[in-house]
Amino acid sequence: MPEVPNSNTQPGGKAKLSIPKEGLSHQQVLETMRTYQQKDARWQTGQTWSLVYFAGQTHSDFIKQAHNLFMAENALNPGAFPSLARFENEVVSMTASLLGGDEAVAGTMTSGGTESIFLVVKTYRDYARHYRPEIKTPEIVLPVTAHPAFDKACHYLDVIPVFVPLTDELRVDLDKYRQAITSNTIFLVASAPSYPHGTLDPVEALGQLALEKELPLHVDGCLGGFMLPWLKKLGYPIAPFDFSVPGVTSLTADLHKYAYAAKGASVVLYRNRQYRRFQFYVTTRWPGGIYPSSTAAGTRPGGPIAAAWAALQAIGENGYLEMAQRTMAVTQKLKAGISALGELQILGNPVMSVFAYTSPVINIYAVADQLEAKGWLVDRLQHPAALHLMVTLAHEQSYEAYLNDLKEAVEFVKQHPKAGDQGKAAVYGMLAQSTDPAQLVETMLRSLDKTYDN
Ligand SMILES: *Cc1c(COP(=O)(O)O)cnc(C)c1O
Repeated sequence: MPEVPNSNTQPGGKAKLSIPKEGLSHQQVLETMRTYQQKDARWQTGQTWSLVYFAGQTHSDFIKQAHNLFMAENALNPGAFPSLARFENEVVSMTASLLGGDEAVAGTMTSGGTESIFLVVKTYRDYARHYRPEIKTPEIVLPVTAHPAFDKACHYLDVIPVFVPLTDELRVDLDKYRQAITSNTIFLVASAPSYPHGTLDPVEALGQLALEKELPLHVDGCLGGFMLPWLKKLGYPIAPFDFSVPGVTSLTADLHKYAYAAKGASVVLYRNRQYRRFQFYVTTRWPGGIYPSSTAAGTRPGGPIAAAWAALQAIGENGYLEMAQRTMAVTQKLKAGISALGELQILGNPVMSVFAYTSPVINIYAVADQLEAKGWLVDRLQHPAALHLMVTLAHEQSYEAYLNDLKEAVEFVKQHPKAGDQGKAAVYGMLAQSTDPAQLVETMLRSLDKTYDN
């Protein structure tokens, strides 16, 4: 047995930073913060392709107002704040309608996709504990492209994720999916669409499989929940993916993505209240009182709930349809421009405004370095190496510049074939080829340590 290091026994020196003795003026504090902000990624001008969903300053100012109105209120106790309870229930209900749900569909709001997915894993784990107590090591089956929030939830909740590879079209392989189901499987997962490639898993076929095996099927619509329904209405070919599909028992949809709400807002929905019951938690033993809790958080900030309600009310169906159309127009132009370059290739058949491209002839990570040098925040994918674009309204102003810079970047890498051996490209290339996952994890943990060491 390795010796367990006990770092508690040696008190270190004083921490580096303390709270200022005298408080500073509000103006001073805000000025300092604005200075720090200047180094942040430039999302307002469409230089980023993830992390921020921006629908213009007017909308942004509006949801900020709604957020501020309820900044202090706490949805931990909906009885104390009936306004928040009303906003939450109405947001859940509007989301259920949008996603093909009937009046039996029930859910809650959460702080984001990760919490929504965490709760889905917890719900089905506890559902299985109740109805299938013979299962001692619960497993879930999911596409390799499913969001890491599922792995993370499995890690926290002691559930085993069983990953299914993709077909050449970058959708999950149905035959392999079937083979991955065992007597320990507690539910199935599909993405609508997958974050990496924007491809839609075959939800109808998976629904049939779920019915046949008598298993719940969760559809992760965190990305597509507030985009695919509009695209369908606009006539885009979107295969059924929501509660209209028999076998689908739950859905997640992020308001803080394509619903253009404030951050900290997502919805988790179940086919019926019997499932949702397993999401809730109550303890009765606490001297502080009986404590019922609907989601993972304790204190639940009112701001994001209020801002989500405000966004849905103010934008409305026609607003979202118009925004979806404009976003897709930019997406088509980007895809056409990228394909026209010849050296680049779009991966799979992306169904909405999220897609990835690679190159069969040049080092795509070297292209990424060139783009970064021109001020873009670039998101790199692996297996296969590719670059990722998530298009929003903010890119109406920047897509032409992006295509120009991309053309130059591709030219540069063609003329400098060794560019891939330098810069970040070399690092990403090495990481992608790593055959020692444990060492890779250790490297990343060290990097986290460094990030959070003050
Ligand atoms: C963003 C996303 C998530 C996770 O949501 P967070 O809000 O980042 O926690 C899960 N699934 C998909 C498909 C996503 O796009």
